[in-house]
Amino acid sequence: MRKLSIILLVGTALAGCQSPEHILEQQPEPVPAVALSTEVQKIQDIALNGTHAYDITESVTTEIGQRLAGSPEEAAARDWAVKKFTELGLSNVRIETFDVPGWIRGEETAEIITPYPQSLHITALGGSSATPDAGIESEIAYFPTFEDLEAAPAGGLEGKIVFISGLMKKAHDGAGYGPANKKRQLGATEASKRGAAAVVIRSVGTDSHRFPHTGQMRYRDNVKPIPIGALSAPDADQLERILKRGETVRLKLTLTPKDVGPLPSGNVIGDWIGSEKPDEIILIGGHLDSWDLGTGAVDDGAGVGITAGTIQVLKEAGLQPKRTIRLVAFGAEEIGLLGAFAYAEQNKESLKNHVLASESDFGAGKVYALRTSVQGAARDELQKIQKSLEHLGVEFEAGTTSGGPDIIPLHQNGVPAIRLQQDGIDYFDLHHTPDDTFDKIDKDEIAQNVAAWATMVWMASEAEVDYREKPEENVGE
Ligand SMILES: [Zn+2]
Repeated sequence: MRKLSIILLVGTALAGCQSPEHILEQQPEPVPAVALSTEVQKIQDIALNGTHAYDITESVTTEIGQRLAGSPEEAAARDWAVKKFTELGLSNVRIETFDVPGWIRGEETAEIITPYPQSLHITALGGSSATPDAGIESEIAYFPTFEDLEAAPAGGLEGKIVFISGLMKKAHDGAGYGPANKKRQLGATEASKRGAAAVVIRSVGTDSHRFPHTGQMRYRDNVKPIPIGALSAPDADQLERILKRGETVRLKLTLTPKDVGPLPSGNVIGDWIGSEKPDEIILIGGHLDSWDLGTGAVDDGAGVGITAGTIQVLKEAGLQPKRTIRLVAFGAEEIGLLGAFAYAEQNKESLKNHVLASESDFGAGKVYALRTSVQGAARDELQKIQKSLEHLGVEFEAGTTSGGPDIIPLHQNGVPAIRLQQDGIDYFDLHHTPDDTFDKIDKDEIAQNVAAWATMVWMASEAEVDYREKPEENVGE
């Protein structure tokens, strides 16, 4: 940032179009809340003036593209990560493999047959069963919200296509996702229990574009699996307008995804061995897999880029952490945190050595807060990290965290968690859609993430505290 300001100032002075004072007024140098250590100052200068995460995210989204769990592309991404981790100078770079249930997308179309014939934009949810190849045609049973479907009596929907609408609330912290996601997770189960033939939902998302949002679903309670797809928001609006005219709507739905049996996935792991406490591991990472519609830029190429970029910045600053920093690119997050559970199982003997863990998996928007599950004196130490990030707009948030989706299984096993909360106001505009592509990443915002992450990892690796002291009860995020 500092270097940038000077360049701008000199450039503008030469151009003679604005006074340097004016520029300084426009871009005041943020003042740290505390005196930054030489190391932290250096880390932040390198990160804020660099394109570390930006370039790594560009690389994985351009050279691989979509990375559906279990796909050949996810395998290619593992090879990509091994190469990157090796280039970063990490040691013992390895892939820990596991199998996942394979599922691949087929044909997906939806058409209103009556009263106003037209086609709609739809996508199958991950894990959905298929319609016959020729599709099914039936009357729509409309439920304005998932709760309306839950409240409906048993039976009565025999042979119908259930449509569940319901808006998702836009929020900086993504708070609208959990409530809106119920219809994606449980819509098919609840509709099947009542005899329905298939389900279409309004996409779980906050945009107004014609991109449907996919995402994993699961059949529960031994119900008969029925196909389920998500309509884009404008298509859900259209369907709702017709239904609100009191019309009986007939829909033709064709979704032909396939279960293809167990496929290989894996976690890519690399270590930067600590100089004084090599057995104390600070784990950071993101997930390597993505949905198949976009190129997985905000979800979660950015997280891989931010955490790998963190290592790159610390190395460029010439630093050597006391504790071991472990970088993990998790596989198969999207289809149920399968890589995270595999990691916890395959590393169960050494989980006691994991002193802190954190994942970046909420896009590339700016970090605005630090949260942690750590208690006692070590919590005060982590609060000092926030003080060194305050001028970058980072607050300390009360409460706890489970560290990010892939950290949940570790946290459940007693690993202390820390998280940098990102502004996700636009995250669910793109999430799981064809529109999750690299052009959405902002260079300055992702650089701010790396500055915050590298500061956090460095300070946490140096502090003379026991993060595992006073382990708290498992509290979810
Ligand atoms: Zn994700």
